[in-house]
Amino acid sequence: MKDRYEIAVVHGDGIGPEICRPALGLVDAALRQDGLMHWSEYPAGAEHFQATGDGFPEATRKACAAADAILHGAAGIPGVVHPDGTEVGLDFTLVNRFTLDLYANIRPIRLYEGVACPLAGVKAGEIDYIVVRENSEGLYAARGAGSLLRGEMAVDPLVQTRKGIERIVRKAFELAQQSKGAPSDGVRRVTCCDKANVLRSYAFFRQVFDEVALDYPDIETEYAIIDAMTMHLVLRPSHYNVIVTENMFGDIISDLAAATIGGLGLAPSAEVGVSNGLFQPSHGSAPDIAGKGVANPYGMVLSAAEMLDWLGHGNGDDRLLAAAGRIRTAAAEGLAEGHMTPDLKGKLSTGEVMDILVGKVAGMA
Ligand code: ATP
Ligand code: MG
Repeated sequence: MKDRYEIAVVHGDGIGPEICRPALGLVDAALRQDGLMHWSEYPAGAEHFQATGDGFPEATRKACAAADAILHGAAGIPGVVHPDGTEVGLDFTLVNRFTLDLYANIRPIRLYEGVACPLAGVKAGEIDYIVVRENSEGLYAARGAGSLLRGEMAVDPLVQTRKGIERIVRKAFELAQQSKGAPSDGVRRVTCCDKANVLRSYAFFRQVFDEVALDYPDIETEYAIIDAMTMHLVLRPSHYNVIVTENMFGDIISDLAAATIGGLGLAPSAEVGVSNGLFQPSHGSAPDIAGKGVANPYGMVLSAAEMLDWLGHGNGDDRLLAAAGRIRTAAAEGLAEGHMTPDLKGKLSTGEVMDILVGKVAGMA
């Protein structure tokens, strides 16, 4: 437990500041204590690059590395790229991911009451699982290191190390232990999602999964092949509790999963390492709606709750866990009562939704 937590806040581009700024006030209200979170704002992103030629200043990097956690809105403007064509907005996430070794991308997938589910007959609460995506190796580890041979053949290596698999699988089991289990039967379960039947690297992933699982005898385990997994997440989502998978597979199924719970505007994301964590909504900077005050703040709000949970568990601080619970309850009530922005067919502005959520957490026990 700490007297205060240092949070590096990077609002970023587009709708980033519109959703990130009010989230700070919501967290303070949920904690019932100003100053327990010490917010320090730093610049990064495509707009800062346009203004200064630097999309991720050294001072921001240092602050992110030193902070207890990083809270981020979104970054990127289409067309604002480096000379090699890579997006400036991605620098913030990717540089932090690799320099701070944020090896676990945790994406909670939960269907809230009041939100239209594209799957027929699925009710609120019946989708409630976590995708744990390996964030540091797999098929994306070799980003830029793939090769094109004589213009005739391209190769990208898929790298999975024992250390990398062990730590992501362990993270998945720890999250299962903290969870209530799958909605269908309350069983705490970790599903290993791979392609072990075809590729050696995934067979290794599964082998290490089995070894780590021995340390968690209270958690049920199972395997799912990635192609069948996409079908299961549509046909029987209530079976799942925690799903652990390789980088690219996690990238794909987390978008599929987000679609089943009402879309990108609702999906939070956490990227965590040993002692650093970066929390931001799954969506991007949405330049098409920036400046209009209609951005859906729920994904950001739920990402802030993820931050409080992670800090609370890591520091044995129940005050933070209680605040995370209040924020999730407020979000659930807000959605159930129809307090939504236009992307969810609602009529409210970002600010109106946030005012309602702040009122709710302030009035809670
Ligand atoms: P990135 O490459 O940064 O992930 P993207 O190209 O996937 O970005 P987003 O910025 O996530 O795109 O936006 C995709 C679509 O979803 C856009 O039409 C955008 O308006 C909408 N969208 C994304 N986030 C929100 C939000 N919070 N509220 C409302 N609409 C959103
Ligand atoms: Mg995207």
